[in-house]
Amino acid sequence: MTEQEFSLPQSATRPVGDTELASLVSQAKLATLGMLLAGVAHEINTPLGAINSNHDVLRRAMSKLQDILADEVVDEDELEEVRRIVRALDAILRVNDIAVERMATLVGSLRSFGRLDRAPIDWADLHEGIDSTLAILGHETRAVTVERRFGVLPPVRCHPDQLNQVWMNLILNAAQAMPDGGALTIETEHHDDRVRLVFGDEGCGIPAAAQAQIFEGGFTTKQRRIGMGLGLLISRRIVEHHRGIIAVESEPGSGSRFTVTLPVSGP
Ligand code: ADP
Repeated sequence: MTEQEFSLPQSATRPVGDTELASLVSQAKLATLGMLLAGVAHEINTPLGAINSNHDVLRRAMSKLQDILADEVVDEDELEEVRRIVRALDAILRVNDIAVERMATLVGSLRSFGRLDRAPIDWADLHEGIDSTLAILGHETRAVTVERRFGVLPPVRCHPDQLNQVWMNLILNAAQAMPDGGALTIETEHHDDRVRLVFGDEGCGIPAAAQAQIFEGGFTTKQRRIGMGLGLLISRRIVEHHRGIIAVESEPGSGSRFTVTLPVSGP
């Protein structure tokens, strides 16, 4: 990558009213959350199911232990049985730990993503935002292999909730472009006073004529139920509000790369 490729044009910023952008982001979030609800419920249901069936095992183990302890004398066979139960309980605890952590991550991500009030500007870890977004989108990206090639990024001054909306749009679009699977590669790097994030997919790609339209709003190739053609318009506005640029390179039939370049110092 050359220094020139990585520089921000001085004219990248188009002023967008703070209130207008905040209300657009809220609307987009509501629409995405509505769409994601079934997937997130499914994602939470899997660890919940594991905990639930472990609960039955715990109940049976407890009753076995009570039976053994009810005897006045515990013989060697019973001791061996107690050891076996303790080993089983240990395995159950480990599964429950993973399940609880998975649910806590999902709920935490939903809570931070779902905030509709205008989050204040802050120095944020962009990788954390991308990881929460990936957690919420687990169901939507199940056909896709996500490869995180994260570099070392400094904290970036931004509206984290707004940037999360950008990652959400780019990741969803990539997954929807690869319904039969493929790789979504997320690369990040830091150079001087800028960071660059690249979302590359191996999906259907975007014809050259459409590439000029996708950031303008109202352009969608998806069924009306899925696409409103607003995701990339909102993403562009958010990125430009942060004095950054968003660009696409795409080859129909082989995939697309969306690049977001942001100044570390923020809006
Ligand atoms: P929507 O997803 O609601 O259609 P967007 O503004 O996010 O709205 O995207 C507009 C259009 O751009 C999509 O309908 C699709 O045709 C195209 N597009 C966006 N991202 C990709 C991608 N990664 N691969 C292929 N096409 C894409």
